[in-house]
Amino acid sequence: MSQVYCCPNCRTNKSRFNLIQQVATPIKKDPRSGEIVAQYSNDTIEPFHLAYNGPDVRVQCAACGLIEDEKTFAAFGQRSQ
Ligand SMILES: [Zn+2]
Repeated sequence: MSQVYCCPNCRTNKSRFNLIQQVATPIKKDPRSGEIVAQYSNDTIEPFHLAYNGPDVRVQCAACGLIEDEKTFAAFGQRSQ
């Protein structure tokens, strides 16, 4: 389904956007040194390590630079129609 986007910040841009694909890499860091000691895939994740559950895509307005969730731009696009 196509959704009309409208930027809630500059309120004029409905056509130029950057889609940001979010790829989460689960890691484990050494709490003292900050070094990465393990990297997981979502299948090999350890117990108590919460898998990424944020949105797959975020959107940046290519006019003013605002970055928000896609639903924010879509909701504003719907309201502006
Ligand atoms: Zn904007």
